[in-house]
Amino acid sequence: MGRGLTFAGREKTPVSISKGKNIARAVRQAVDLAGGLEKLIHSGSRVLIKPNLSVALPAKTGVTTDPKVVTALIQLVREAGAKEIMVGESAVVGFDAAAIFEALKVRSLFERAGAKVINLDRDEAVEIEIPKGIVLKKLKVCRTAYESDVIISVPKMKTHFQTGVTLSLKNMKGTVPDESKRIIHRIGIPVTKREEYGLDQAIVDLNTVISADLAVIDASVSLEGFVPGPRLVGNPVRMDTIIAGSDPVAVDAVGCRVIGLNPLEVRHIRLAHERKLGRMLPKEVEVVGRSIESVLHPLKTEIPEAAQTYENLTIVEGKGCSGCSVTNRMALFFFSPQDVENLGVVTVIVGDTTSTDYLSGGRCFFVGNCAVRSNKGKKGTKIGGCPPPGVWIRRSLTKALKK
Ligand code: SF4
Repeated sequence: MGRGLTFAGREKTPVSISKGKNIARAVRQAVDLAGGLEKLIHSGSRVLIKPNLSVALPAKTGVTTDPKVVTALIQLVREAGAKEIMVGESAVVGFDAAAIFEALKVRSLFERAGAKVINLDRDEAVEIEIPKGIVLKKLKVCRTAYESDVIISVPKMKTHFQTGVTLSLKNMKGTVPDESKRIIHRIGIPVTKREEYGLDQAIVDLNTVISADLAVIDASVSLEGFVPGPRLVGNPVRMDTIIAGSDPVAVDAVGCRVIGLNPLEVRHIRLAHERKLGRMLPKEVEVVGRSIESVLHPLKTEIPEAAQTYENLTIVEGKGCSGCSVTNRMALFFFSPQDVENLGVVTVIVGDTTSTDYLSGGRCFFVGNCAVRSNKGKKGTKIGGCPPPGVWIRRSLTKALKK
Protein backbone atom coordinates (compact mmCIF):
# COMPACT_ATOMS: atom_id res chain seq x y z
CA MET A 1 0.00 0.00 0.00
CA GLY A 2 1.21 3.47 -0.78
CA ARG A 3 4.19 2.00 -2.61
CA GLY A 4 3.42 3.25 -6.07
CA LEU A 5 0.49 2.98 -8.36
CA THR A 6 -0.13 0.04 -10.62
CA PHE A 7 -2.79 -0.47 -13.22
CA ALA A 8 -5.55 -2.62 -11.74
CA GLY A 9 -7.01 -5.10 -14.18
CA ARG A 10 -10.65 -4.49 -13.31
CA GLU A 11 -13.41 -3.35 -15.60
CA LYS A 12 -14.23 0.11 -14.33
CA THR A 13 -12.74 2.19 -11.55
CA PRO A 14 -15.36 3.65 -9.20
CA VAL A 15 -15.05 7.31 -8.25
CA SER A 16 -17.68 8.74 -5.94
CA ILE A 17 -19.07 12.24 -5.69
CA SER A 18 -21.08 13.55 -2.75
CA LYS A 19 -22.42 16.98 -2.03
CA GLY A 20 -23.66 18.66 1.12
CA LYS A 21 -22.94 21.42 3.62
CA ASN A 22 -22.36 18.85 6.36
CA ILE A 23 -18.75 18.00 5.53
CA ALA A 24 -18.44 14.98 7.83
CA ARG A 25 -21.53 13.42 6.30
CA ALA A 26 -20.38 14.17 2.75
CA VAL A 27 -16.95 12.59 3.43
CA ARG A 28 -18.52 9.46 4.95
CA GLN A 29 -20.89 9.14 2.02
CA ALA A 30 -18.14 9.59 -0.58
CA VAL A 31 -15.83 7.04 1.10
CA ASP A 32 -18.68 4.51 1.48
CA LEU A 33 -19.73 4.95 -2.15
CA ALA A 34 -16.12 4.49 -3.27
CA GLY A 35 -16.03 1.08 -1.58
CA GLY A 36 -15.35 1.91 2.09
CA LEU A 37 -12.20 1.28 4.08
CA GLU A 38 -12.73 -2.34 5.08
CA LYS A 39 -10.60 -3.81 2.30
CA LEU A 40 -7.93 -1.17 2.78
CA ILE A 41 -7.43 -1.05 6.53
CA HIS A 42 -7.01 -3.81 9.08
CA SER A 43 -6.12 -3.97 12.75
CA GLY A 44 -2.38 -3.72 12.13
CA SER A 45 -2.49 -0.81 9.68
CA ARG A 46 -0.46 2.35 10.12
CA VAL A 47 -2.39 4.95 8.19
CA LEU A 48 -1.07 8.33 7.04
CA ILE A 49 -3.62 10.98 6.13
CA LYS A 50 -1.93 13.59 3.94
CA PRO A 51 -3.97 16.78 3.63
CA ASN A 52 -2.84 19.93 1.85
CA LEU A 53 -1.67 22.15 4.71
CA SER A 54 1.24 23.54 2.78
CA VAL A 55 0.73 27.19 3.79
CA ALA A 56 -0.89 28.94 6.75
CA LEU A 57 -4.09 29.98 5.03
CA PRO A 58 -7.44 28.70 6.31
CA ALA A 59 -9.69 26.35 4.35
CA LYS A 60 -12.17 29.11 3.56
CA THR A 61 -9.55 30.75 1.30
CA GLY A 62 -9.64 27.65 -0.89
CA VAL A 63 -5.94 27.02 -0.31
CA THR A 64 -5.81 24.31 2.36
CA THR A 65 -7.79 21.18 3.17
CA ASP A 66 -10.70 21.78 5.52
CA PRO A 67 -9.84 20.29 8.95
CA LYS A 68 -13.40 18.91 9.09
CA VAL A 69 -12.58 16.67 6.10
CA VAL A 70 -9.51 15.41 7.94
CA THR A 71 -11.30 14.77 11.25
CA ALA A 72 -14.07 12.94 9.38
CA LEU A 73 -11.43 10.70 7.81
CA ILE A 74 -9.70 10.12 11.15
CA GLN A 75 -13.06 8.96 12.51
CA LEU A 76 -13.60 6.58 9.56
CA VAL A 77 -10.08 5.18 9.85
CA ARG A 78 -10.61 4.64 13.60
CA GLU A 79 -13.86 2.82 12.92
CA ALA A 80 -12.02 0.62 10.39
CA GLY A 81 -9.74 -0.45 13.28
CA ALA A 82 -6.35 0.95 12.23
CA LYS A 83 -3.49 0.42 14.67
CA GLU A 84 -2.06 3.90 14.18
CA ILE A 85 -3.45 7.04 12.54
CA MET A 86 -1.17 9.89 11.52
CA VAL A 87 -1.80 13.22 9.86
CA GLY A 88 1.35 14.48 8.18
CA GLU A 89 2.50 17.30 5.98
CA SER A 90 5.70 18.78 4.61
CA ALA A 91 5.04 22.41 3.75
CA VAL A 92 5.98 24.48 0.73
CA VAL A 93 9.77 24.85 0.30
CA GLY A 94 11.17 27.18 2.94
CA PHE A 95 8.24 26.84 5.36
CA ASP A 96 7.79 24.57 8.36
CA ALA A 97 4.66 22.46 8.74
CA ALA A 98 4.72 22.77 12.56
CA ALA A 99 4.19 26.53 12.29
CA ILE A 100 1.34 25.95 9.87
CA PHE A 101 -0.32 23.41 12.20
CA GLU A 102 -0.13 26.02 14.96
CA ALA A 103 -1.35 28.93 12.83
CA LEU A 104 -4.31 26.91 11.57
CA LYS A 105 -4.92 25.50 15.08
CA VAL A 106 -5.30 21.97 13.74
CA ARG A 107 -2.85 20.03 15.90
CA SER A 108 -5.08 19.62 18.96
CA LEU A 109 -8.11 19.13 16.74
CA PHE A 110 -6.54 16.16 14.96
CA GLU A 111 -5.06 14.79 18.19
CA ARG A 112 -8.45 14.93 19.92
CA ALA A 113 -9.94 13.07 16.95
CA GLY A 114 -7.40 10.27 17.53
CA ALA A 115 -4.46 10.97 15.22
CA LYS A 116 -0.80 11.68 15.77
CA VAL A 117 0.25 14.89 14.02
CA ILE A 118 3.56 14.52 12.17
CA ASN A 119 5.67 17.39 10.94
CA LEU A 120 7.14 15.75 7.85
CA ASP A 121 9.55 18.70 7.53
CA ARG A 122 11.34 17.23 10.57
CA ASP A 123 10.93 13.61 9.55
CA GLU A 124 13.87 11.37 8.79
CA ALA A 125 14.56 11.17 5.06
CA VAL A 126 15.14 7.86 3.36
CA GLU A 127 16.61 7.63 -0.12
CA ILE A 128 14.78 5.22 -2.38
CA GLU A 129 15.29 3.94 -5.90
CA ILE A 130 12.66 4.79 -8.51
CA PRO A 131 12.95 1.81 -10.88
CA LYS A 132 10.28 3.08 -13.26
CA GLY A 133 11.39 6.70 -13.04
CA ILE A 134 11.82 8.63 -16.26
CA VAL A 135 13.35 11.83 -14.86
CA LEU A 136 13.99 10.69 -11.28
CA LYS A 137 16.01 7.54 -10.61
CA LYS A 138 16.22 7.97 -6.86
CA LEU A 139 14.81 10.41 -4.36
CA LYS A 140 14.76 11.14 -0.64
CA VAL A 141 11.27 10.72 0.83
CA CYS A 142 9.93 11.07 4.36
CA ARG A 143 10.30 7.82 6.27
CA THR A 144 6.88 8.12 7.92
CA ALA A 145 5.19 8.28 4.53
CA TYR A 146 7.29 5.55 3.02
CA GLU A 147 6.74 3.17 5.92
CA SER A 148 3.03 3.71 6.47
CA ASP A 149 0.82 0.87 5.28
CA VAL A 150 -1.92 3.06 3.88
CA ILE A 151 -1.78 6.62 2.54
CA ILE A 152 -4.89 8.75 2.16
CA SER A 153 -4.28 11.81 -0.01
CA VAL A 154 -6.65 14.65 0.82
CA PRO A 155 -5.96 17.54 -1.54
CA LYS A 156 -7.88 20.74 -1.87
CA MET A 157 -9.61 21.27 -5.19
CA LYS A 158 -7.66 24.01 -6.90
CA THR A 159 -6.25 25.13 -10.18
CA HIS A 160 -2.53 25.69 -10.39
CA PHE A 161 -0.49 28.02 -12.53
CA GLN A 162 2.18 25.46 -13.35
CA THR A 163 0.42 22.11 -13.48
CA GLY A 164 -3.19 23.02 -14.34
CA VAL A 165 -4.53 21.54 -11.12
CA THR A 166 -3.05 20.43 -7.83
CA LEU A 167 -4.96 17.35 -6.70
CA SER A 168 -4.12 13.97 -5.19
CA LEU A 169 -1.19 13.00 -7.45
CA LYS A 170 0.57 16.32 -6.88
CA ASN A 171 -0.33 16.27 -3.18
CA MET A 172 2.23 13.46 -2.77
CA LYS A 173 4.91 16.12 -3.11
CA GLY A 174 4.20 16.90 0.54
CA THR A 175 5.65 13.51 1.52
CA VAL A 176 9.20 14.45 0.52
CA PRO A 177 11.73 16.81 2.14
CA ASP A 178 12.49 20.26 0.69
CA GLU A 179 15.67 18.97 -0.92
CA SER A 180 13.58 16.56 -3.00
CA LYS A 181 10.90 19.13 -3.77
CA ARG A 182 13.59 21.33 -5.30
CA ILE A 183 14.81 18.40 -7.38
CA ILE A 184 11.26 17.65 -8.51
CA HIS A 185 10.84 21.25 -9.66
CA ARG A 186 14.27 21.82 -11.08
CA ILE A 187 15.47 18.54 -12.44
CA GLY A 188 18.53 18.96 -14.59
CA ILE A 189 17.10 18.85 -18.08
CA PRO A 190 17.22 21.45 -20.84
CA VAL A 191 14.58 24.17 -20.54
CA THR A 192 13.24 23.19 -23.99
CA LYS A 193 12.37 19.73 -22.73
CA ARG A 194 11.04 20.83 -19.38
CA GLU A 195 7.47 21.06 -20.68
CA GLU A 196 7.26 17.35 -21.35
CA TYR A 197 9.81 15.95 -18.95
CA GLY A 198 9.97 18.40 -16.08
CA LEU A 199 7.75 18.83 -13.06
CA ASP A 200 4.82 16.87 -14.52
CA GLN A 201 6.87 13.80 -15.31
CA ALA A 202 8.58 14.06 -11.90
CA ILE A 203 5.18 14.03 -10.15
CA VAL A 204 4.37 10.82 -12.01
CA ASP A 205 7.77 9.31 -11.15
CA LEU A 206 7.12 10.05 -7.47
CA ASN A 207 3.73 8.36 -7.68
CA THR A 208 5.35 5.17 -9.00
CA VAL A 209 7.00 4.71 -5.60
CA ILE A 210 4.88 6.58 -3.09
CA SER A 211 1.21 7.08 -3.78
CA ALA A 212 -2.24 7.22 -2.27
CA ASP A 213 -4.33 4.14 -1.60
CA LEU A 214 -7.35 6.39 -1.27
CA ALA A 215 -7.79 9.90 -2.64
CA VAL A 216 -10.38 12.26 -1.21
CA ILE A 217 -10.66 15.68 -2.85
CA ASP A 218 -11.94 18.45 -0.61
CA ALA A 219 -14.00 20.65 -2.92
CA SER A 220 -16.07 22.15 -0.10
CA VAL A 221 -14.47 25.48 -0.98
CA SER A 222 -12.28 25.31 -4.08
CA LEU A 223 -9.77 27.77 -5.45
CA GLU A 224 -9.88 29.18 -8.95
CA GLY A 225 -7.22 31.17 -10.72
CA PHE A 226 -3.91 31.76 -9.04
CA VAL A 227 -3.58 35.48 -9.61
CA PRO A 228 -0.02 36.72 -9.39
CA GLY A 229 0.18 39.95 -7.40
CA PRO A 230 0.56 41.22 -3.87
CA ARG A 231 -2.14 38.95 -2.55
CA LEU A 232 -1.94 35.33 -1.62
CA VAL A 233 -4.81 33.58 -3.30
CA GLY A 234 -7.20 33.38 -6.23
CA ASN A 235 -10.95 33.24 -5.78
CA PRO A 236 -12.42 30.79 -3.27
CA VAL A 237 -15.52 29.09 -4.70
CA ARG A 238 -18.06 27.29 -2.53
CA MET A 239 -18.89 23.90 -4.04
CA ASP A 240 -19.78 21.70 -1.02
CA THR A 241 -18.46 18.68 -2.93
CA ILE A 242 -16.29 15.69 -2.00
CA ILE A 243 -14.77 13.29 -4.56
CA ALA A 244 -13.22 9.96 -3.54
CA GLY A 245 -11.78 6.73 -4.90
CA SER A 246 -8.90 4.30 -4.65
CA ASP A 247 -7.37 5.20 -8.01
CA PRO A 248 -5.84 8.71 -7.65
CA VAL A 249 -5.51 9.08 -11.42
CA ALA A 250 -9.23 8.44 -11.86
CA VAL A 251 -10.13 10.65 -8.88
CA ASP A 252 -8.03 13.54 -10.23
CA ALA A 253 -9.53 13.07 -13.70
CA VAL A 254 -13.06 13.25 -12.29
CA GLY A 255 -11.99 16.25 -10.21
CA CYS A 256 -10.89 18.00 -13.41
CA ARG A 257 -14.19 17.26 -15.12
CA VAL A 258 -16.09 18.63 -12.12
CA ILE A 259 -14.35 21.99 -12.59
CA GLY A 260 -14.82 21.97 -16.34
CA LEU A 261 -11.31 20.87 -17.37
CA ASN A 262 -10.39 18.08 -19.76
CA PRO A 263 -7.98 15.90 -17.73
CA LEU A 264 -6.25 14.84 -20.96
CA GLU A 265 -5.03 18.41 -21.16
CA VAL A 266 -3.57 18.28 -17.65
CA ARG A 267 -0.13 16.95 -18.40
CA HIS A 268 0.74 15.07 -15.21
CA ILE A 269 -2.63 13.28 -15.14
CA ARG A 270 -2.37 12.34 -18.82
CA LEU A 271 1.22 11.11 -18.31
CA ALA A 272 0.16 9.04 -15.27
CA HIS A 273 -2.52 7.44 -17.41
CA GLU A 274 -0.17 6.84 -20.35
CA ARG A 275 2.29 5.22 -17.96
CA LYS A 276 -0.54 2.97 -16.76
CA LEU A 277 -0.62 4.23 -13.19
CA GLY A 278 -4.39 4.51 -13.26
CA ARG A 279 -7.47 5.11 -15.33
CA MET A 280 -8.99 8.33 -16.51
CA LEU A 281 -11.12 7.91 -19.61
CA PRO A 282 -14.91 8.11 -19.12
CA LYS A 283 -15.22 4.52 -20.46
CA GLU A 284 -12.82 3.31 -17.73
CA VAL A 285 -14.31 5.19 -14.79
CA GLU A 286 -17.68 4.72 -13.15
CA VAL A 287 -18.91 7.82 -11.35
CA VAL A 288 -21.11 6.84 -8.39
CA GLY A 289 -23.28 9.01 -6.14
CA ARG A 290 -23.82 12.43 -7.66
CA SER A 291 -23.18 12.84 -11.39
CA ILE A 292 -20.46 15.16 -12.67
CA GLU A 293 -23.11 17.31 -14.34
CA SER A 294 -25.02 17.80 -11.08
CA VAL A 295 -21.98 19.26 -9.28
CA LEU A 296 -20.27 20.84 -12.28
CA HIS A 297 -18.73 24.18 -11.40
CA PRO A 298 -16.25 25.42 -14.01
CA LEU A 299 -13.30 27.22 -12.48
CA LYS A 300 -11.17 29.83 -14.21
CA THR A 301 -7.61 28.72 -14.80
CA GLU A 302 -6.15 31.31 -17.12
CA ILE A 303 -3.14 32.75 -15.40
CA PRO A 304 -1.32 35.53 -17.17
CA GLU A 305 2.47 35.36 -17.06
CA ALA A 306 2.35 38.73 -15.38
CA ALA A 307 -0.44 40.50 -13.59
CA GLN A 308 -0.41 44.09 -12.49
CA THR A 309 -2.44 44.73 -9.39
CA TYR A 310 -0.86 48.11 -8.73
CA GLU A 311 -0.24 50.42 -11.62
CA ASN A 312 3.43 50.64 -10.78
CA LEU A 313 4.21 47.09 -9.66
CA THR A 314 4.37 44.01 -11.87
CA ILE A 315 5.07 40.49 -10.67
CA VAL A 316 6.38 38.04 -13.22
CA GLU A 317 5.90 34.36 -12.43
CA GLY A 318 8.38 32.29 -14.41
CA LYS A 319 8.89 28.56 -14.08
CA GLY A 320 9.92 27.43 -10.65
CA CYS A 321 8.22 26.08 -7.57
CA SER A 322 5.74 27.69 -5.26
CA GLY A 323 8.52 28.38 -2.73
CA CYS A 324 9.47 31.74 -4.22
CA SER A 325 5.92 32.61 -5.30
CA VAL A 326 4.54 32.17 -1.81
CA THR A 327 7.49 33.81 -0.02
CA ASN A 328 7.34 36.78 -2.36
CA ARG A 329 3.61 37.28 -1.84
CA MET A 330 4.02 37.03 1.91
CA ALA A 331 6.85 39.59 1.84
CA LEU A 332 4.72 41.99 -0.19
CA PHE A 333 1.92 41.67 2.33
CA PHE A 334 4.02 43.77 4.71
CA PHE A 335 3.82 46.80 2.45
CA SER A 336 0.86 49.13 2.42
CA PRO A 337 -0.62 50.23 -0.94
CA GLN A 338 0.99 53.61 -0.28
CA ASP A 339 4.42 52.00 0.24
CA VAL A 340 4.01 50.06 -2.99
CA GLU A 341 3.08 53.25 -4.81
CA ASN A 342 6.16 54.96 -3.37
CA LEU A 343 8.39 52.29 -4.89
CA GLY A 344 7.90 53.81 -8.31
CA VAL A 345 7.87 51.54 -11.37
CA VAL A 346 8.98 48.10 -10.16
CA THR A 347 9.07 44.58 -11.60
CA VAL A 348 9.55 41.58 -9.32
CA ILE A 349 10.58 38.38 -11.08
CA VAL A 350 10.35 34.94 -9.46
CA GLY A 351 11.15 31.62 -11.09
CA ASP A 352 12.96 30.81 -14.26
CA THR A 353 12.23 33.25 -17.09
CA THR A 354 14.29 34.83 -19.82
CA SER A 355 11.45 36.92 -21.21
CA THR A 356 12.18 40.63 -21.27
CA ASP A 357 8.77 41.77 -22.55
CA TYR A 358 7.89 43.02 -19.10
CA LEU A 359 10.91 45.25 -18.72
CA SER A 360 9.14 48.52 -19.28
CA GLY A 361 11.58 50.60 -17.31
CA GLY A 362 11.89 51.07 -13.57
CA ARG A 363 13.62 48.85 -11.09
CA CYS A 364 13.83 45.04 -11.29
CA PHE A 365 14.05 42.62 -8.38
CA PHE A 366 15.07 39.05 -9.18
CA VAL A 367 13.79 36.90 -6.33
CA GLY A 368 15.25 33.43 -5.77
CA ASN A 369 18.03 31.42 -7.39
CA CYS A 370 15.90 30.49 -10.41
CA ALA A 371 15.20 34.11 -11.31
CA VAL A 372 18.78 35.17 -10.58
CA ARG A 373 20.30 32.33 -12.61
CA SER A 374 18.04 32.79 -15.63
CA ASN A 375 18.62 36.54 -15.72
CA LYS A 376 22.39 36.71 -15.52
CA GLY A 377 23.72 40.05 -16.70
CA LYS A 378 20.40 41.86 -16.37
CA LYS A 379 20.28 45.04 -14.35
CA GLY A 380 18.45 44.85 -11.07
CA THR A 381 18.57 43.72 -7.45
CA LYS A 382 19.37 40.02 -7.13
CA ILE A 383 17.94 38.31 -4.06
CA GLY A 384 19.36 34.78 -4.06
CA GLY A 385 18.11 31.82 -2.03
CA CYS A 386 15.95 28.81 -2.63
CA PRO A 387 13.64 30.41 -1.66
CA PRO A 388 15.15 33.54 -0.09
CA PRO A 389 13.74 34.29 3.37
CA GLY A 390 10.86 36.78 3.15
CA VAL A 391 12.84 39.17 5.35
CA TRP A 392 15.52 39.51 2.62
CA ILE A 393 12.88 40.47 0.07
CA ARG A 394 11.33 42.94 2.49
CA ARG A 395 14.74 44.42 3.27
CA SER A 396 15.56 44.96 -0.41
CA LEU A 397 12.21 46.57 -1.12
CA THR A 398 12.47 48.74 2.00
CA LYS A 399 15.92 49.93 0.86
CA ALA A 400 14.40 50.84 -2.49
CA LEU A 401 11.65 52.74 -0.70
CA LYS A 402 14.15 54.90 1.09
CA LYS A 403 16.03 55.87 -2.07
S1 SF4 B 1 14.71 29.36 -6.29
FE1 SF4 B 1 12.59 29.59 -5.75
S2 SF4 B 1 11.44 28.92 -7.53
FE2 SF4 B 1 13.53 28.16 -7.75
S3 SF4 B 1 13.45 26.06 -6.86
FE3 SF4 B 1 14.12 27.48 -5.24
S4 SF4 B 1 12.25 28.03 -4.16
FE4 SF4 B 1 11.63 27.16 -6.13
